[in-house]
This record gives sequence, structure tokens and C-alpha cells, in this order.
Amino acid sequence: MSNALSRRAALQALGIMGGSGLLARIAGAQEARGKIKLRPVQVSRSRVVRTIVGLRPFRASGYVVRSERLGEKTVVHHYGHGGCGVTLSWGTAELAVAEVASAGARAAAVLGCGAVGLATARLLQRRGIEATIYARELPPNTLSDVAGARWYPFDLFDSKVVSPEMVEGVWRASRVAYAAFKRMAGPTYGVFFRPTYMFQNSPLPKTSLLNLDSPVRDCLPGLRELLPEENPTPAKVTRTFETMMIEPAIYLPAVMRDHAKAGGRVVKREFRSAAELAELKEPVIVNCTGMGAATLFGDTELVPIKGQLTILKPQPEIDYVALPNGLYMFPRKDGIVLGGTFERGVSTMEPNRAAEERILTRHAKFFATL
Ligand SMILES: Cc1cc2nc3c(=O)[nH]c(=O)nc-3n(C[C@H](O)[C@H](O)[C@H](O)COP(=O)(O)OP(=O)(O)OC[C@H]3O[C@@H](n4cnc5c(N)ncnc54)[C@H](O)[C@@H]3O)c2cc1C
Repeated sequence: MSNALSRRAALQALGIMGGSGLLARIAGAQEARGKIKLRPVQVSRSRVVRTIVGLRPFRASGYVVRSERLGEKTVVHHYGHGGCGVTLSWGTAELAVAEVASAGARAAAVLGCGAVGLATARLLQRRGIEATIYARELPPNTLSDVAGARWYPFDLFDSKVVSPEMVEGVWRASRVAYAAFKRMAGPTYGVFFRPTYMFQNSPLPKTSLLNLDSPVRDCLPGLRELLPEENPTPAKVTRTFETMMIEPAIYLPAVMRDHAKAGGRVVKREFRSAAELAELKEPVIVNCTGMGAATLFGDTELVPIKGQLTILKPQPEIDYVALPNGLYMFPRKDGIVLGGTFERGVSTMEPNRAAEERILTRHAKFFATL
């Protein structure tokens, strides 16, 4: 059996070969064995449209899904998704909704209108539970609007602190969420598959999800090293796979529309203390306030990890994701997104101009090698 054929057999065994364009593209790359041609992104200060900042709601021990009684109400907490709240939203929402259902509620209040609150509200509706959203900010003004957003369950826990049960729970929730987003693929929800290329010189850490024995390999179709003759860069460590990209500017309004169509209401309201929740008519409240849970419910484990994205003018010919040396480049309808900053414990909302300069310089250097 030739190498190409044995690779095809391996892909078939993984269940990622079939009739779709995505799978055909992966197979094509396997068999072409030529140098991969990546069109360079034009990186320069004159092409910068804006830099946006967000605070990832990070907890060293992982996300929270649990219920508690608060006076007459049941509160189901559902927050703390760090750098992958969009990615995991539909997966952890299933867990939160199961808690609501076990409380026997026919109506629930969902606090928060980011990716986590919206997925929760929709899954409640699908279970026949009325879901009213209450939130201080609505899209396009939530943290979820700042997200990249690539489907990738990382930057969610500290591996020195997290329990094995939580880690297993993350991979389970990842699979559920991946399947949910896959069903939404296409322009209506702004969910697109993109060929992805990672290049770096240092070996991958043991915990990297891009190791070939990745716990979420089934959600990174086609994951493999580039063959030396395919590698268009001098980088020693490479990977290619297909990434599911979720464009917040399309996705969040689309889910809000679905919620409204199913009879859901959205109320713009800020809660200054947990005691104010007693004013709500719903007996069960799902707390999807992300970073807001730190002050509202006094969760001292929640820390912000500040991140920022620099958006360049759109380049419609760029149709791949690049992950060069710990940075990332995502092509979106609204522009080319450059990122890769993580400032733990920093909660200022002003762009870090030194980090912006570094991101521009390092991306420019990478794309100049193509
Ligand atoms: C630069 C950057 C890049 C990122 N890239 C990705 C990515 O590629 N993929 C990915 O999956 N994730 C990514 N993330 C992480 C992602 O943005 C978050 O994990 C996700 O948005 C969290 O969603 P959420 O719904 O919990 O929170 P939010 O989107 O913050 O929503 C919280 C909601 O609660 C409301 N709220 C809060 N407090 C109160 C209150 N007191 N009263 C009333 N309402 C309140 C808010 O107004 C808001 O509506 C990125 C983050 C950053 C900063």
C-alpha cells in the first residue's frame, strides 16, 4: 500500500473521509505532497482597523456548573469558561439545563447574553422551558463579541490544579459543543471550516491539544504533521487540521433571533447584588454572567486573563488559519484577526499598545517568510 493510500485508510478509520469538500480537501493535501501555498497576509500599521480588548473569565479549577438555593430561588451557576467560552458553550449548557430540568421548572431566567447565556437559553427552550434573558450588555457589546472565535477548548484550567474529573468533563462538553456547532455550519450562523497551519521551532508541550494523541483529535479533523516537502516555512514543528471558526458578529445575532422566534424575551438589566435576584418572577435562575460572577456571587477564584485582537482590513483571498509561534491569524468576513496576548490578572480595558506592536511585528515577520 502506498503512503498516500495508507494515510487515506487511516483517515477513513478516523471517520473523517467522505464526500464533503472539507474531507476531499484534506485528502487532496495528503496526496498532492507539493509545497503548500499560503497567500501572505499584508501586515502593516496602515491596514489596522482597530484593536479590541476582552477579559477571559478564567478559573484554575475549570468552569462552574452547579446549583444552590438562594432564598426562594434555585440558582444554577454556569460560568468561568476562560479562553474558550464560545467553544464549550453548547456542551456545558447541556449540563446546566439538566440542573434546571431536575428542579422541575417551567420557566427560567438566564442572566447574561454572551455565548454561554444564549446557548443555555436555546437549550432550555428546546426542553420546553420558557427562557427570559436578563443582561447588562447585549451583543455586540459582550465579551463574546470580542472572541476570535475559533473552536478550540484551551486556556480553561490550570493543569496543576484541575481535577481529572473536570478534565474529562471538558473533553465530553467539547464533543457535545463541537457537534452542535457542526450542525450550524454555513453562512446563517457564521460557522466556517478553515484549513489550519501551525508552525513553530520549539516542541509542543505535553499538554498541547495539537499532539497527535490529542484528547479532542476527533474534533480537529485531519490533524497531522506536514510532510517536509509540504512545509512552506523553515519551522521544524508543524501541524495541519481543519478548524471550525465561529464569527461572533454573525453567530450571536443569529442565536438571538432563534431565541426570539421561539418566544424568548430579552430584558436589559444590571444586577448589582445577588439579593436583587429575588425580584425576578422566575423560580430558577441560570447565572451565565462570565466575569460578572466575581462581583455578583463573590467567586474569588475567577481571574481575568486580558486578551486583545488587532483587526486588519479584510483580505477575502485569505481562506486559512495560521498559528505561527504561539500567535494566531483568523480570516473573517469583517477583517483579518491577529492575536495571541494573555495577561493574567490584568483587568484594564485599554489596548496594550506595546503588545499590539509586538503582534504586528511578529506576524509581519512570519508572513514575510511565505
Ligand atoms: C482576545 C480574546 C480572544 C478569544 N478567543 C476565543 C476563541 O477563539 N474561542 C473561544 O471559544 N473563546 C475565545 N475567547 C473567550 C471567550 O470570549 C469567553 O470565554 C466567552 O465570551 C465567555 O462567554 P460568557 O457568555 O460566559 O461571557 P460574556 O460574553 O462576558 O457574557 C456575560 C453576560 O453577562 C452579563 N452580565 C455580567 N454581569 C452582570 C450583572 N451584574 N448583571 C446583569 N448582567 C450581567 C454581561 O452583560 C453579558 O451579557 C476569547 C477571549 C478574548 C478576550
